[in-house]
Amino acid sequence: MDLKSGYPFWAIKNGLMCVFPQLKADISCDVVVVGGGITGALIADELGSNGFDVVVVEQRDIGWGSSAASTALLQYEIDTHLVDLAKAYGEFEAVQAYQACAKAITDLRDLAHELGDVDFDMQESLYYASKRSHKAVLREEYELRVKHGFDVQWLDSDSLKQRFGIKAPCAILTKLAARVDPYRMASKLLLRLAERGGRIFDRTMIDSIEPADEGVTLRTPEGLCIQAKHVVMAAGYASQTWLKQSVAQNRSSYAFITDPIDSTDLGVLASTMIWESARPYLYMRSTGDGRLLVGGDDDDIDIPSRRDKRVESKAKGLAKKVKKLLPSLPLPPGFSWGGTFAETADGLPFFGEHAQYGPRVQFAMAYGGNGISYSLIGAGLLRANIEGRPHPLTELFGFSRLD
Ligand SMILES: Cc1cc2nc3c(=O)[nH]c(=O)nc-3n(C[C@H](O)[C@H](O)[C@H](O)COP(=O)(O)OP(=O)(O)OC[C@H]3O[C@@H](n4cnc5c(N)ncnc54)[C@H](O)[C@@H]3O)c2cc1C
Repeated sequence: MDLKSGYPFWAIKNGLMCVFPQLKADISCDVVVVGGGITGALIADELGSNGFDVVVVEQRDIGWGSSAASTALLQYEIDTHLVDLAKAYGEFEAVQAYQACAKAITDLRDLAHELGDVDFDMQESLYYASKRSHKAVLREEYELRVKHGFDVQWLDSDSLKQRFGIKAPCAILTKLAARVDPYRMASKLLLRLAERGGRIFDRTMIDSIEPADEGVTLRTPEGLCIQAKHVVMAAGYASQTWLKQSVAQNRSSYAFITDPIDSTDLGVLASTMIWESARPYLYMRSTGDGRLLVGGDDDDIDIPSRRDKRVESKAKGLAKKVKKLLPSLPLPPGFSWGGTFAETADGLPFFGEHAQYGPRVQFAMAYGGNGISYSLIGAGLLRANIEGRPHPLTELFGFSRLD
C-alpha cells in the first residue's frame, strides 16, 4: 500500500532517524506489534513499559508510512461534533470520548517531555464557522462543551477579527491542543523501547496470522515465524486489508509547509492552530521553527498515482484559501505532499478484538483526523484488553458498535 506522495516534511527534516535489523530467525515473545508508525510505537511503549516482552515488526523503515505524512495537530475535538456524537451514542458516552481525547493531549505532553526534542508544543485551537448558516451549530456545540467543563471561549465576528484577523461569523476557541513531529516521536519511542530490551525489526513484513487458543503464529513471506501470546495489528490503513468486514473508507489528504516565516508576520499562529466547520476542512498550524503547515482539501481518491498527480494543484488551492482568510500573511512555499488516511462513518476509531480472529489479535485502527490522540488512548485500551481488565471505552471504540 503506497501511503504518501510528494515531499512529506518530517521525512525531509529528520532524514532516516533509525534503522533496525531485519528478522533473520524464528522468535517468540509476549506481544507482537505489527506496524512501526506512531500508533504501533505508542502501543509498544505502553506494553514495554509495563512488563511485556514486546516485538515490533515493520515492513518499511520505522515511521515511514502515513505517520511521516501526518500534519500532527493534537486535538480533543474530533471530526464529529460532541453534539452529534451524543445524538448517536448518548451524552455520557460522547463526553467520555471527548474527555479521553482531552486527557490524551496532556498524556502526549508528558510523554514528549520524557522523550525530549520532538517539536511538541501546547497550543490553542480556533474552530471558526465557515458560513453564517453554521453559527447555530457551533453555538450548540459550544454550550454542550461548556456544560461538561471543557475550557472553551465563544468569539463573535468582531473579536475574531480583532484577535485573529479572520473574517468569519464566529468561532470556538479551545485552550487545550498541541502539535508534535510525529515521525520523530515514533522513532524516539522505538529507540527507547530497544534500549529497554524490546526487539524491533524493520524491512520485515508479516503476511499471515494464525490465531489459536494458546497464542498466535505470524509468518513472513520468507517463511520465518514469530510465536506470540498476543498480536496488535497497528498496520495503519493496511489493517483494513486483514478484515473481511469493511469498517472505513480510504481517502486522500493534502498538505504544504512554508519556509520559516518572520515571527511578527506569524503572530498568533505561532500558538494557535486553526480549522473550520466546512467539510472537508482547511486547517493550519505552525512548527517550532516558525513554518506554517497547511492541510485539507481531502478527496475520496484511493489510487496513489492519481493522488500523486494532484499534490501540486491541491497545494496551490490550499494556499489560495489561506490567502483569502489571512491576506497579509506571507506564504513562502516549502514542500507539499499528499497522504492516504481513512475515515469511519462516526469519526471514532476501532481498537480491540474482531470476531474474525478472536481475542488474541487486537486491532489498532486509529482512523480519523485525530489519529494520534486516538492511538494514545488505544495504547491503554489494548493493554487493558491484553491484561483482561475492563476499559471505559472498550465498547465505544470497539467493533461491537457496528452490530
Ligand atoms: C496528510 C495527513 C494528515 C493528517 N493529519 C493528522 C492530524 O493533524 N492529527 C492527527 O492526529 N492525525 C492526523 N493524520 C492521521 C495520522 O497521521 C494517522 O492516524 C497516523 O499517522 C497513523 O499512524 P499509524 O501508525 O496507525 O499508521 P502508519 O504510520 O501508516 O503505520 C503503519 C505501519 O504499518 C506497516 N505495515 C502495514 N502492513 C504491514 C505488514 N503486513 N507487516 C509489517 N508492517 C506493516 C506500514 O509499513 C506502516 O509503516 C493525518 C494523516 C495524513 C495522511
